Amino acid sequence: MPWYRIRFEDGRSFNYGGTREELIEAVRCFSPSDVSGYTQLLEKVELIYRVGFEELGNQPFDKFSSMLRVLPKMAILRSDRSVYNFVSKYLADEALRRVFSFQPLLVGGNPFHTTSIYSLIQHLERKDGVHFAQGGTTALVGALVKLADEQGIRFHFNQQVAEINIEDGRATGVRLANGVQLACSCVVANADAPALYRELVPKRWRKKWTDRRIEKMKFSMGLFVLYLGIKRIYPELAHHTILLGRRYKELLEEIFEGKMLSEDLSLYLHAPTRTDPDLAPAGCESLYVLAPVPNLLAGIDWSHEAQRLEERILDILETTVCPGLREAIVVRFHVTPEHFRDNLLTHHGTGFSIQPTLLQSAWFRFHNRSEDVQGLYLVGAGTHPGAGLPGVLCSAKVLEHYLPEILSNGNDEPARDRTSPEQREEALQ
Ligand SMILES: Cc1cc2nc3c(=O)[nH]c(=O)nc-3n(C[C@H](O)[C@H](O)[C@H](O)COP(=O)(O)OP(=O)(O)OC[C@H]3O[C@@H](n4cnc5c(N)ncnc54)[C@H](O)[C@@H]3O)c2cc1C
Repeated sequence: MPWYRIRFEDGRSFNYGGTREELIEAVRCFSPSDVSGYTQLLEKVELIYRVGFEELGNQPFDKFSSMLRVLPKMAILRSDRSVYNFVSKYLADEALRRVFSFQPLLVGGNPFHTTSIYSLIQHLERKDGVHFAQGGTTALVGALVKLADEQGIRFHFNQQVAEINIEDGRATGVRLANGVQLACSCVVANADAPALYRELVPKRWRKKWTDRRIEKMKFSMGLFVLYLGIKRIYPELAHHTILLGRRYKELLEEIFEGKMLSEDLSLYLHAPTRTDPDLAPAGCESLYVLAPVPNLLAGIDWSHEAQRLEERILDILETTVCPGLREAIVVRFHVTPEHFRDNLLTHHGTGFSIQPTLLQSAWFRFHNRSEDVQGLYLVGAGTHPGAGLPGVLCSAKVLEHYLPEILSNGNDEPARDRTSPEQREEALQ
């Protein structure tokens, strides 16, 4: 089973995965003259991984001096180049360039503008593997909740934080949308970083992260995700399939900079029952298809476009890897960037917060310790090191560096509730 299969518009497929030798063999089948370049590329991405992930991924970048320290290494690795430019130095075949450069899309970046540091994903996958939690991401969340529960951590589910309470420049608690006030010694937020500052931190406390500065940032693309339950199985599907459209650079420009939906599409098709058959009844499959689309800055009218896009996606799947798909559909629903804005509360409905460009990475990204508010700490996709589960977990690890100050500042006090028991009972219903 490949980690993922990349299918081109001309019907050719590249099975990405396996051992180093198997990968080299797959490259040879596509373009024999690129084998030597690919072996060099493998060495380079390992080097980038060692610096970018192992040395810098878990480190805080809250001081410019920490940035200055790593600049020489980033210069040697030519982090100013984009992932696509970096890969093109080693590979001449355009199809292979696409295979080895699309990975920034997994963390919200355009391969033509994402710093080449992100080619470390190639080595990350080879070293640690590509994994799927049995039971799906929900199982992962359930396991984390259980762990937290065992540590005595209490959750308030289905509650929205409306504001971070700040006194004398220091976070003192949060106000929930239902009016409940929770006091605490520090706030750690994994809300979308630009939305956190814009919506939850009153303007008067924001010297650095003003609305103006935030709006100048480059935001990641939006996502349209179509979920399908079908009453048949496509055994030849891989767990992960990337269906690349005819155009690459132009399509990416339209997704990241454009104001409308492109006519051609590139899709990611997820078939989790390939690995975990329990995710659908016997003889059935659960699938989802993800199309990168412009975020809400594009002003697309999703009430009109969503249905049209859904049909175009089904057309592509029927003519490529899932013939007869429509007849087999039992349930289907989709989410648009509006879901990301309204339910996950991301600014401009992005799928991955801000883009991982060079000038929005490390020190330039939202710091894990707030520059504006004492006692406010940030984790999650918009912070250092970036989006995707490995990045987000690293951002949580960065906070370990701040534990002594977190504990001393707050005298290790648990969160206090400033609302009366009656108010609280009513509001938390
Ligand atoms: C369809 C899809 C597939 C993906 N597949 C993969 C994958 O295979 N591997 C991988 O590594 N990554 C994957 N990702 C990316 C990964 O899921 C994200 O990068 C990651 O979940 C981001 O974590 P986060 O904690 O920053 O944000 P989230 O996971 O979005 O968590 C933030 C939470 O905070 C809540 N919240 C926000 N504001 C408030 C507020 N004011 N009050 C209360 N709650 C609030 C939101 O509702 C949300 O539940 C995928 C993403 C998508 C959309």
